[in-house]
Amino acid sequence: MKEQIGRIRELLTEIESDSEAAAPDSFERNFDALELPNIFCQIVDFLQPGLKPYEAAIYWYMFRHSVVSTGSQNVRVSTRGLAKKVVSSLRADSSNASISYGAVTEALAGLENKAAIRKNGDTTGDGTPYFVALPEEISWCLEAIQAATVVEVPKAIDEKKELDYYNVAENRLKIFERDSYKCYKCGKQLTRFSATLDHIQPVSKDGDNSYDNLVTCCLHDNSRRRNTPIMDALMSE
Ligand SMILES: [Zn+2]
Repeated sequence: MKEQIGRIRELLTEIESDSEAAAPDSFERNFDALELPNIFCQIVDFLQPGLKPYEAAIYWYMFRHSVVSTGSQNVRVSTRGLAKKVVSSLRADSSNASISYGAVTEALAGLENKAAIRKNGDTTGDGTPYFVALPEEISWCLEAIQAATVVEVPKAIDEKKELDYYNVAENRLKIFERDSYKCYKCGKQLTRFSATLDHIQPVSKDGDNSYDNLVTCCLHDNSRRRNTPIMDALMSE
C-alpha cells in the first residue's frame, strides 16, 4: 500500500512537471528565430560528438524541455522520468521498456562532468533542477567551435607568399616592370609572355625568391646560365 501511494505520488509529479513546462507564462526568454537553428547545429556538430549515446539522448530531452519549450535554460528532471521517457530498450517484446536508473544516473553524471548540465538546486520530490548549458557556454565545445569557424590562414605562409616574387604571378610582374621588361644580360626587350625570371643567387646556392634576388631574363640567357651565380655569368662573357 505504502509503495502504491509512493508510485502514485511519483506519477502525479511527472504530470505536474510536464504541464508546468508547457505553461506559456513560464516562458522566460525568447530565443531568436535565427539563434535556435544555430544552437541546434552547434549541438549536433560540436557537443553531441563528445557525448555518449545516453548522455546525448538525455541532453536533447533536457534541451527540448528547457530552451525550446520555455526559453529558459532551467529544467527539473527526475531519474525516474528520464528512465521512462528518454529512451526505451530495443527489445521488441517490451513496448513499455525503459532504461535503468543506473544508466540514467551515470549519464547525468557524465553530462555534469562534461559541463553540459549543472545542478541548479536541491533534489526534491519533483526531481532535480538543472541548468542546461549551450555549446558556446561549454569550454571544450567553444574551443571546437572556434577552431572550426576561424579561417586559419597561417600568417607565416601568407607573408612568405607575399614575399615570393617567383611563384606568385602578380609579384613576377612587379619584377618585370621594375626591369622595364628588359633582359639583364642581353638587354633584349621582352613582353610578359617572353620574359622569365632569373635568380641572382641560384636556389641551389640558397638563393630565395625575394624581390632583390630576381631579375628579368630572356629564355635564351636563362637556360644558358643555369646555376652559375649572376656575377660569374656576367664576368665570363
Ligand atoms: Zn637575354
